[in-house]
Amino acid sequence: MKKHNFSAGPCILPQEVLLQASGAVMDFNGSGLSLIEISHRSKDFVAVMEKAQALALELLGLEDQGYKALFLQGGASLQFVMAAYNLLETKAGYLNTGTWSNNAIKEAKLFGEVLEVGSSKDENFRYIPKGYAVPSGLDYLHLTSNNTIFGTQIKKFPKIDAPVVCDMSSDIFSRQLDFSDFDLIYAGAQKNMGPAGATLVVVKESILGKVTRAIPSILDYRVQIAKESMFNTPSVFAVYVSMLTLDWLKKLGGISAIETLNEKKAKLLYSEIDLNPLFEGYANTEDRSNMNATFNLADDKLKDNFDNMWKEAGVVGLNGHRSVGGYRASMYNALPLESVGILVDVMSELERKA
Ligand SMILES: *Cc1c(COP(=O)(O)O)cnc(C)c1O
Repeated sequence: MKKHNFSAGPCILPQEVLLQASGAVMDFNGSGLSLIEISHRSKDFVAVMEKAQALALELLGLEDQGYKALFLQGGASLQFVMAAYNLLETKAGYLNTGTWSNNAIKEAKLFGEVLEVGSSKDENFRYIPKGYAVPSGLDYLHLTSNNTIFGTQIKKFPKIDAPVVCDMSSDIFSRQLDFSDFDLIYAGAQKNMGPAGATLVVVKESILGKVTRAIPSILDYRVQIAKESMFNTPSVFAVYVSMLTLDWLKKLGGISAIETLNEKKAKLLYSEIDLNPLFEGYANTEDRSNMNATFNLADDKLKDNFDNMWKEAGVVGLNGHRSVGGYRASMYNALPLESVGILVDVMSELERKA
């Protein structure tokens, strides 16, 4: 039976990417060798790394603007550390919009003073703080563009003097933004790009080299740039699949084309959540994420019934994060509109039966 994969991460990838990747595991570029048994310094793999980096900058519209793209390891969680290690000299601002920004704040405190410029903790992160003041003189402001767990998404970004650092793990390449408003963007691959194990970092070189502390080589963005993401053995399979996904996105028409599809999917699901009296959305309406829709049953007695129905329809990965409960439908780039249609049909079928 066809599965409709709403998992939050690792998550759905395009079928054609999976097919090509599995082919390369057996025979990479007709070499008679597997992608994962050749040197990362071979000509063919270096070409993969270069193409992945170039595609990332091209899709974000950041070519020739002083940015470098890197594919590192350690996930977004290591970027919580690296961002502060490389940029935090005295004081940084953090917008606290949930679990991931909380984790980023915790790491940054090891390196300097952290000012929480705003927080939505008072309502268990169901909204995005707005109208907060950002004092001058910060080393940087850190934002989380999309809150994977609570289903909120920043729609309008503050324009400030300090460099802006943004964790875009769960919505990178999903919507059009002026990416040149950001100085450091990072994203674990496993949400909108590829398998876990690679992390995309896009950094404006001019913000580096300003802290006085010594930085271990592997955690120093300047070393990683000089070594072109090959300071040590990169995670070759994850980088290769990310490259294929970025190429797939480019052929589809890039971010503007996928944004149109993502808006359609989100609209379809949110209108069902709003019109069907058996469901309630979790996030504040104006802050709703187009990637992760969080919702609850109005009456928990329907839970067993609903759970059986969506499972029978081939839907997977719909349970909410353990810290929120309820349901979460993750609608990343590779999820077809048809899958959202199936879920919406199940929800309206539940209403008809109830
Ligand atoms: C999943 C996620 C993370 C953690 O990513 P890892 O790669 O597992 O470290 C960080 N931030 C956001 C917004 C996420 O969605």
